[in-house]
Amino acid sequence: MSLLERQIEEKTSTLSSIYSKCLTVSICSILCCLDDLLCCVYLCLNQLGPAYQGLELGVGETVLMKAVAQATGRQLDKIKAEAQEKGDLGLVAESSRSNQRMMFAPANLTAGGVFNKLKEIANMSGNSAMNKKIDIIKGLFVACRFSEARYIVRSLAGKLRIGLAEQSVLSALSQAVCLSPPGQELPPAVLDAGKRMSAENKRVWMEEKALILKQTYCEMPNYDAIIPVLLKEGIDELPNHCKLTPGVPLRPMLAHPTKGIGEVMKRFDEASFTCEYKYDGERAQIHILENGEVRIFSRNQEDNTSKYPDIISRIPQVKKENVRSCVLDSEAVAWDREKKQIQPFQVLTTRKRKDVDASEIKVQVCVYAFDLLYLNGESLVREPLSKRRALLRESFEEKVGEFVFARALDADNTEAIAEFLEQSVRDSCEGLMVKTLEKHATYEIAKRSHNWLKLKKDYLEGVGDTVDLCVIGAYLGKGKRAGSYGGFLLACYDEENEEFQSVCKILFFKIYTFLVSMLCSCIYMFNVFMCDPPQEHILPKPRPYYRVDQSAEPDVWLEAVQVWEVKCADLSLSPVYKAAMGLVDPEKGISLRFPRYLRIRDDKKPEDATTGSQIADLYKKQQQIQNQGEKQDLEDYY
Ligand code: AMP
Repeated sequence: MSLLERQIEEKTSTLSSIYSKCLTVSICSILCCLDDLLCCVYLCLNQLGPAYQGLELGVGETVLMKAVAQATGRQLDKIKAEAQEKGDLGLVAESSRSNQRMMFAPANLTAGGVFNKLKEIANMSGNSAMNKKIDIIKGLFVACRFSEARYIVRSLAGKLRIGLAEQSVLSALSQAVCLSPPGQELPPAVLDAGKRMSAENKRVWMEEKALILKQTYCEMPNYDAIIPVLLKEGIDELPNHCKLTPGVPLRPMLAHPTKGIGEVMKRFDEASFTCEYKYDGERAQIHILENGEVRIFSRNQEDNTSKYPDIISRIPQVKKENVRSCVLDSEAVAWDREKKQIQPFQVLTTRKRKDVDASEIKVQVCVYAFDLLYLNGESLVREPLSKRRALLRESFEEKVGEFVFARALDADNTEAIAEFLEQSVRDSCEGLMVKTLEKHATYEIAKRSHNWLKLKKDYLEGVGDTVDLCVIGAYLGKGKRAGSYGGFLLACYDEENEEFQSVCKILFFKIYTFLVSMLCSCIYMFNVFMCDPPQEHILPKPRPYYRVDQSAEPDVWLEAVQVWEVKCADLSLSPVYKAAMGLVDPEKGISLRFPRYLRIRDDKKPEDATTGSQIADLYKKQQQIQNQGEKQDLEDYY
């Protein structure tokens, strides 16, 4: 508390304190002012504004090194070598700074000042933009004190690593507002009818409030809109002011993996549900704005509007007249017009990503619509799927090969589902998405419900689950494969510790089968890694945030830049691999057995890889199923 009070007194937010005590500073900043809080939040998240606006610094590593060299008077080569050795240009910048002596000390940096400079950098374009950017960075750099240089450089490099993910920032914000409600001196809400709340009641109450903020953020992922309301009106008022709006991408609902139809039946129990084909394409959130404009967003809320002019041009033909504005959830899938059939996901990846000219499109897509989240001024996310689906079907009409509704079966018996699952695979889909229709059937992402389950065809083959893992190292091939890579070290991402934890080694011969069967784009990307990994991705030593046992160390360390979807037979406890260490066993991690490469997930960033806790969940689930199987065997036996 004393730190907090001191900081409130100071009423300035120096960078070092922001980064080192984010939660406290969020609270303290709330007590200070709106602008400071907004800057602190964005700085903590290493963002310049709402992610969907896509504002980027446009500062590469080389430029950053140049700026550090020029600001410290050190040679560029030395900076480069030290950065390679330390694996963190921030640390190099920090230690270089301490050699500097200044005649006049520049004014202390403030959160607002730094944030505005970063935005200035991002908004620069044109001929001499790079030199101007370097000048601003130098200016920031000479004003740094304590460890500020480390974090400024990491911010500029987009690798802040302060152990503070978005969910923690949201929790910190909601706690701060609950404990210091706007316009009130004391936090009366922690008092229950004049008495102090019990610790348990307080925890539950805080969680409820945090959920309001998290859900609002899912529907309106924009702190510029949320924070002013939070400070002026309080947390309860948020849903009335920050609503789902066409043009602003909302967080998409994701699905939980299941091991088979038995698990689906058990989870949904009495609840009515529907099974939909799980199409293998790209998520397309289609927004129709009141002014008639159409925008399309990806699963990561990136603006894909210029990628799909063909989809945009067909919207007026498929939407019924009564639709003035809406948000559709759908999958865009590669479509062969001649054969009238779905094409594999890999074909879609060969399509240009930006500024596509409609007349030059070679890879056609068909939109498979599966949800309606907003219609004519009303958000539908709190409505059950049955209603959203009915409205979807009433509001649009199908056009073969261009816009159709996801094929669905509202079945409740295992045989029918099994048959539908097999049919989905025959129709070139990945399997089924199983969704509740009435009970627990809203589109409220923040609740982390299990409303949507995925049932992939892999389960039919009995091979197990798929996970998305990051490549962090490679093993040199032996014998016939000498001179190229024989295998790769894969890792999951642990959000808690912000580290990549080794989870398995994947061997070449399995990849080879893939190579033979894959399409050119993938082969190209794969070759990049397999035969000739780009030099900038090879590291002299592991990053400090790689968790790998000595016995599994690869011959070559690689920068965590690429995510692979991998299928495995099962998961086992391992003294060697570090995934989910401490979550299931105090000393052992979890490893994947017989992993097999499926494809590159270039829609996922390294930090979007499967997490340690998800690996732990998969392991626990597998154990439960095994135990049930064993119990069943025993019952049958007796
Ligand atoms: P996964 O990426 O394996 O977690 O599967 C979830 C993804 O499946 C979603 O993000 C969608 O892009 C895709 N998908 C395909 N068909 C459907 C469907 N009928 N309902 C929901 N998502 C679907």
